[in-house]
Amino acid sequence: LSKMGGRTIGIYVLTTVFAVSLGLLVVNVVQPGNTINEETRTELMEKFADDAQKRKEAAVSQQEQGPLQALVDIVPSNIIGAASDNGNMLQVIFFVIFFGVALIMIPENKSKPVITFFDSFNEAILKMIDLIMLAAPLGVFALLAALVAKSPSTDIFIALGAYGACVVGGLALMVFVFYPIILKLFTKVRPMDFFKAIAPAQLLAFSTSSSAATLPVTMDCVEENLGVDNEISSFVLPVGATINMDGTSLYQAVAAVFIAQVFAHDLTLADQLTIVMTATLASIGSAAVPGAGLLMLIIVLEAIGVEPAGIALIFAVDRPLDMCRTTLNVTGDSTVATLIASMEGKINPPKKIQN
Ligand code: ASP
Repeated sequence: LSKMGGRTIGIYVLTTVFAVSLGLLVVNVVQPGNTINEETRTELMEKFADDAQKRKEAAVSQQEQGPLQALVDIVPSNIIGAASDNGNMLQVIFFVIFFGVALIMIPENKSKPVITFFDSFNEAILKMIDLIMLAAPLGVFALLAALVAKSPSTDIFIALGAYGACVVGGLALMVFVFYPIILKLFTKVRPMDFFKAIAPAQLLAFSTSSSAATLPVTMDCVEENLGVDNEISSFVLPVGATINMDGTSLYQAVAAVFIAQVFAHDLTLADQLTIVMTATLASIGSAAVPGAGLLMLIIVLEAIGVEPAGIALIFAVDRPLDMCRTTLNVTGDSTVATLIASMEGKINPPKKIQN
């Protein structure tokens, strides 16, 4: 919560909001979900009809409430109740941030056991996700087989291709346009040299789909190859691996709108703003492990009243997109580390890579 902490978190949130907005722009222009024909759409909607009816009722009751109701709804009246309901993730996030702030404010000898407990708890949960992901290839095969066998035509695949292209296109704009502009404007590091310096981290991120697993290599690249002071990198990068996921947030915006388009669910401007807010929070809440962004997408879908089971549509193509978005997540963290180090005067790039 220091000055550097405030700056880092502020820049992280700004880049994430930019990424979500870019994702929204791309998916609204290309409209990948509208490439499927009426027959496929009707069939898909029938499959999800029951839940869709419930959502409609919820959406109607939400319309009757005031505009600030969303803020009131973020505060849980019963944290155990919120934690046992998958639709209340924002309430849980609100509670844990509040809880974390309180933990900082009490004496360290009192907070330490709680922090150690949650650290271990977190490790165990991540291990469980690891084990579950071992079965993912089989699960994806089954999902894809069911989709192929039941799909009336090939247009769902064309739509999925267009959706994938939107995600990859948006990510490419971030990597090749947005970050280089930040580096050019605010640092002395040339974009080409920056990419050369962090290439090993990008490669590992691409192959593991986990920014957490990549963290040690990211730190090494940023410190050794870019000359960022350890004082900066040891704070900015671990925080970034946990909360700064520009790739994940961009992907969540594209995926949420894509699923809405497939289900012919019209999104208002207010819905799009809700996506900006929830995708930013959901990416902050996503663990830095494979597939986490897909799970957190449920929050975004719930918030705009789109059937969350719709993630089944995009599950099969998620892994390659996860590889790409994780690469962007790591690139974003490294860019911000370089930026903060430049602002604080704590960077000493090797001579050959100075502007
Ligand atoms: N795999 C991503 C990461 O570790 C998170 C995600 O699923 O988007 O950064």
